[in-house]
Amino acid sequence: MKQIIKIWRNVDPFSLQLRLTIGIATFSALVLGSLAVWTSWRMQHILIDSHKHNIEQIAQRLPQDVQVYSEMIQLETGLQKAINNLTNTNTLLWLKTPDNKILVKSPTLNLLSVSTVTELMSLTKMPIQAQVYKVNQSYFVWCGSSVQIQGKLLGELFVVKDITREQSMFVLMVQSLGITSILAIILLTVAIAFYIKRSLNPLRQLNHMAAVISVEDLGQAQLYLDNAPSEVKELAQTLNMLLLRLSQSWEQEREFVSNVSHELRTPLTIVHGYLQSILRRQNNLTQTQQEALETAASEAERTIRLLQDLLDLARADSGHLQLQMKSHVLHDLVEEVVMMAKKYSDRIITIESTTHSIEINVDYSRLKQILLNLIDNAINYSEDHTPILFKLDQLQDKAIIQVCDQGYGIPLQHQARIFERFYRVDQSRSHRTGGCGLGLSIVKTLVEGMGGSVSVQSKLGEGSIFTIVLPT
Ligand code: ADP
Repeated sequence: MKQIIKIWRNVDPFSLQLRLTIGIATFSALVLGSLAVWTSWRMQHILIDSHKHNIEQIAQRLPQDVQVYSEMIQLETGLQKAINNLTNTNTLLWLKTPDNKILVKSPTLNLLSVSTVTELMSLTKMPIQAQVYKVNQSYFVWCGSSVQIQGKLLGELFVVKDITREQSMFVLMVQSLGITSILAIILLTVAIAFYIKRSLNPLRQLNHMAAVISVEDLGQAQLYLDNAPSEVKELAQTLNMLLLRLSQSWEQEREFVSNVSHELRTPLTIVHGYLQSILRRQNNLTQTQQEALETAASEAERTIRLLQDLLDLARADSGHLQLQMKSHVLHDLVEEVVMMAKKYSDRIITIESTTHSIEINVDYSRLKQILLNLIDNAINYSEDHTPILFKLDQLQDKAIIQVCDQGYGIPLQHQARIFERFYRVDQSRSHRTGGCGLGLSIVKTLVEGMGGSVSVQSKLGEGSIFTIVLPT
């Protein structure tokens, strides 16, 4: 039962599988049902027709027999004899005079129940064409004719044939046919459902294959199905061509970003250098000039950082990001990063470590870049007086670095997206901090490039914890 409920819950009311199953099953049910109804109708006709023919013949024959007998014996005796001759267990005859008196009747009539006989005898008219009637749970085929001997009307002949046994058998057969048809429809529906499910499998496979294609493997992605129908194979081929075109345009876009970043970074670095040297050497600048130059220098620096980030991401995407992986003592590296951070911020930054001897295999300068990015964020997205904590730990062959702040926190709905490129939670605040939403995507790219992973836990108004797990 539970299994059925589970299957029922998984049924998608809009799926092609369900629509095809319902469509084909309904069609099959209609065809089978109509066939069963037609067969029953036809059989009933065949059954009744044979009886009809039989009693119509009797109704026609009796007057002739009586005619023959009347020439040899008394009319009434001849009548009885003729009726006796044509009577058998199922076929019953009687003759009624025009004033509704029974002249002669089959002796076997008494074998029927009294109520049936009474009802039969009360009939005053019979159809010339045989018909089926139901009397007290019994079925009869009956017809009649008027009997004339030597031009004189003797009365009305009633010919009745009891077909209750055949009719009951027929009803039983119709019931069996009905049950068989229902079972056949159920079986057929189940078989059709399985067949359709199997036929749609290649489409599902195609869907699964396409779902796992990431931007990184667009170029190598190939959708291939072995035993699929030609239509699905064609679809797979078309998708492959689409993937190829996407990969080419993605590659061009990466190259474009990489080239533009590279071309802009060099002259901007020179401009920044000049601005810095003017600011350092010129003592005769007015207050306004000084402020204008400082703004220009800081904007140039921000743009250089942005271009550098874009360049790093473009290189990582195209697989050209070179990482110099070497073994380093984690504690020393973090201490150096904290010293660097303290040069531009007077935040309290502390390190908490379970052991000082955690060795990790990383690119030294890239890990510094990662940690500086996280410290920058921790500083930018918290109040000035709140401290920042580094927690270092080792778990089997993994080093764990946590950067904890007591800042504004990140709303839950944004937490999964902050590692995306150019994604910022609060545009206005981020603009004030000088960020452009690339810092965390660089962190993620570099950490994953070194074989690690990064995640975030954050509570609004309480702070955030960024956790990096790296192989030792
Ligand atoms: P940005 O350059 O804007 O800082 P990031 O990629 O570094 O870009 O961060 C993306 C967004 O994540 C930020 O705009 C900020 O809203 C949020 N964020 C990152 N770090 C923190 C943090 N420590 N506390 C609160 N919010 C953060």
